[in-house]
Amino acid sequence: MVIIMLGAPGTGKGTIAGILKERLGIPQVSTGDIFRKHIQEQTELGKLAESYISKGELVPDDVTIGLVENRLEDDDVQAGIILDGFPRTVKQAEELDKLLDKKGKKVDLVINLTTPEEEIIERIVNRRICSNQDCKTVYNLVLNPPKQEGICDKCGSKLIQRKDDNEETVKARFNSYIEQTSPLVEYYEKKGNLYSAIVSKSINKLGKDVAEDVLNFIKEEK
Ligand code: AMP
Repeated sequence: MVIIMLGAPGTGKGTIAGILKERLGIPQVSTGDIFRKHIQEQTELGKLAESYISKGELVPDDVTIGLVENRLEDDDVQAGIILDGFPRTVKQAEELDKLLDKKGKKVDLVINLTTPEEEIIERIVNRRICSNQDCKTVYNLVLNPPKQEGICDKCGSKLIQRKDDNEETVKARFNSYIEQTSPLVEYYEKKGNLYSAIVSKSINKLGKDVAEDVLNFIKEEK
């Protein structure tokens, strides 16, 4: 099963993908995480990616598509994959379709998340993430704080704040979403595999609630 997480920054893509990964037993592949790992290791790709990510801009398509093309060859994703943060442009979506087609696969479900803009900044500046790459649990200091400050409830590792989770970069990231990524909603709507959900405290729907709704939807579809 190929699942795509679509949505502006701070809508809960990573949180929901993390829950689906555990419940469905399918790996979560986040292009943002792959870039951050390269940045940490100071590879050439990391240096290039950082020059875009620090400004809230998208990393060029050819670089990102090549990365995903290689990842799609790995054994662990042959039975299923949750793509978290890819595709982010129509070009990426078209290339993904071609890559999957070659393998006799297709995008099965696109989870399209929306959150009121005023909540997005609040969510992002309060976001903390587990530094353990195998855990990566997402917390929110207001909505979903850890039991012990700065420490992951699940694995005890240190919580960190992403460098690009600041108000200034968030605005640029949001603009990149509107200009380059939001056309994907129509792209997948036409293909008939779009599942849209609102993630907002104003309607008492946080990421974990939407994840349950998605799991029920998948069960009913089967
Ligand atoms: P994320 O962790 O998904 O929020 O991604 C962090 C940053 O990595 C984004 O703001 C982009 O600069 C870059 N990035 C992640 N995925 C992609 C993608 N599919 N295409 C281009 N840039 C990406």
